[in-house]
Amino acid sequence: MPILCACPNGHSLRVKDKLAGKRGKCPTCGADFDVPAPPAPPTEGGPPPEPVPAQPTSPPPAGVASEPAVEWRMARAGGEQYGPTVPAVFAQWIAAGRVTPDTLVWRTGWPDWRRADAPNADLPAPLPGAPTEPPPLPAPGATLPPPAPTASQSPAPSPAPAETPTPAPTPTIKPSRPVPPSTAYTLRKRQQAKRRRIITIALALVCVVLTGLLVIATMTNSSEEATAPPASQARRMAPQARRYSPI
Ligand SMILES: [Zn+2]
Repeated sequence: MPILCACPNGHSLRVKDKLAGKRGKCPTCGADFDVPAPPAPPTEGGPPPEPVPAQPTSPPPAGVASEPAVEWRMARAGGEQYGPTVPAVFAQWIAAGRVTPDTLVWRTGWPDWRRADAPNADLPAPLPGAPTEPPPLPAPGATLPPPAPTASQSPAPSPAPAETPTPAPTPTIKPSRPVPPSTAYTLRKRQQAKRRRIITIALALVCVVLTGLLVIATMTNSSEEATAPPASQARRMAPQARRYSPI
């Protein structure tokens, strides 16, 4: 492995590593120079460089005051929606058992609703293990039916087997779900795009079916034409036959 160095006059040189520490002469300008020691291989010698803790280039915002206030909403399986509310109150709702694992939750900044038991639903408080029937809480300005009796009435049988058949439907949101105003627009646009795609596919299918029918009709006609000559011959033969029949 050659040593890269430079002579006093700045000519870059490649020197065989066995000449390390010796005195050499620059072939370009003839200046004497000391060949430096080769760079230490990484496998031998000193300890590996300690990982430098990533220093934040910009300090995080000192206070929460500069950020927009975080609001939480929840939508139960029956469709009742509660909120928005501040994280502290939402934590109380969770502690009171009003948020069950299948409850959809949404907070400021999320594009979509998430299941309360979803791993990325960083709730302000942990979900209680045993889901209990939450007390009805009427949201201001909303006429809500009383919470429908759900599976949560059963006295806390191990919730894990009950959940396995229904995987968390976090990415897909039913159109009937209540949607916070900030996401309602994007959701509506997405639904319109989906409808347009379905119409396009349907039109393409109709075109394919019509083309197929046309092909079948053409083939049927040609096959009829192919069988036509014998029929016309028979018709042409008929008068002759009739001519002979009276005899
Ligand atoms: Zn030189």
